[in-house]
Parts: sequence; structure tokens; C-alpha cells
Amino acid sequence: MAKSATAKTPARTNASNKSGLVKPSRAEAEAAVRTLIQWAGDDPDREGLLATPSRVVSAYEEWFSGYGRDPRDYLQRTFEEVGGYDEIVLLRNVRFESHCEHHMAPVLGRVHIGYLPRDRVVGISKLARLVDVYAKRMQTQEKMTAEIAGCLDAVLKPFGVAVVVEAAHQCMTTRGVHKTDVTMVTSRMLGAFRDQVQTRQEFLAAVGMRGNMTNGEAI
Ligand SMILES: [Zn+2]
Repeated sequence: MAKSATAKTPARTNASNKSGLVKPSRAEAEAAVRTLIQWAGDDPDREGLLATPSRVVSAYEEWFSGYGRDPRDYLQRTFEEVGGYDEIVLLRNVRFESHCEHHMAPVLGRVHIGYLPRDRVVGISKLARLVDVYAKRMQTQEKMTAEIAGCLDAVLKPFGVAVVVEAAHQCMTTRGVHKTDVTMVTSRMLGAFRDQVQTRQEFLAAVGMRGNMTNGEAI
């Protein structure tokens, strides 16, 4: 039997993840949901809630599936025959669903990704998958924006990368300050998009954003 992380925690049946944390068993995760139901004030044994812990844990497997995947894997297959194409490659309106790491509340939004290829391009569906790997983790929007840009930059080594994320945070729209129509916009500009105003403006105009976005800052 595997050793417990501490003397107090029950025996774990699942393997450690890559950060060295011991993953609880499914039964333990379901028990935690039962506790939350009770804490909210309801009876987890009433008929309508009996299967809820199991459903919640299954939903978590989907919402947080990004932990089991390496985003760089999606960018390994590239195409070098680009026919001399040396303009911006742009993917607009990549819809994503994530969860904020502060409240585990849904974050719903869109990502715009641009890059200036040096010698190769990647299939556009792979860019969408890249977004999903990072989105399917507990996130801050700022971190996710930087991670998407950083991964593209590291693997494709293009002349530049631009990522803009616009999202509504349900921790802000459905609780707390209840500002339902507020969205947050973050951006990360690397290489030519950071250094050349014209390239940056071309990208921002193409995604329908103008104005004086500063380098790599939330706007
Ligand atoms: Zn939050």
C-alpha cells in the first residue's frame, strides 16, 4: 500500500501528479462534495442529491482535465511549407471555459491569438487545443494569457506572439459586487508585437480592438 502523505490522511489509491502532490481517491473527492452539500444546508441523502457527488466529481474531471496534458504536445506537428507567407497568422474568438483559482467559479470568454511565423506554422485546431489545456485548470486570466503566449513562443519560435483574452468572471457577476456586464481584458505581446507599434496595431485592429494597449499589461 502506498504511504500516506501524512499520518492523518487516509490511504491514497491514486498516483502522485507531476507536482508531487498525492491525488485523493474518487471516493474521497465525492465525500468532500457531500460535506459541501451539508455545509450549504441540504441533506446529501435525499433522493435528488444522492448522485450529485458522483456527478460533480465527473464534472471536475472535465473542467480540470488540463492538468493531465502537456500543452507543448499540441504544437509539435508543424508545417514548414508556407509558400513564403510572412504575415500575421491570426485566430480570432477562440471560446473558452475556465475556472478562477480564487473561487473556482466559471470564467467564460474568448481568446485571440496571433503570431508572425519565422519558418513554420501550426494547424489552427492545435491553437484552440492549446487554449483548452490552459483553460481546463484553475486559473487567473493574467496567468493564462501569459502561458498561452509563452508556450507558442517557446515551441514555434516565431518573430512574435500576441494574445488577447476577454472574459467574464462569474465570481464577480453572480456574487460579490454583482457587476454582470463587466469583462476583463488582458494581453501579452512578445517579439515583433511588443517592439513594433505597427504590427501590434495591425493585430489589435484585426481583433476589433484599438486604443493604446501597453506592452504586455492588462488593459
Ligand atoms: Zn474568482
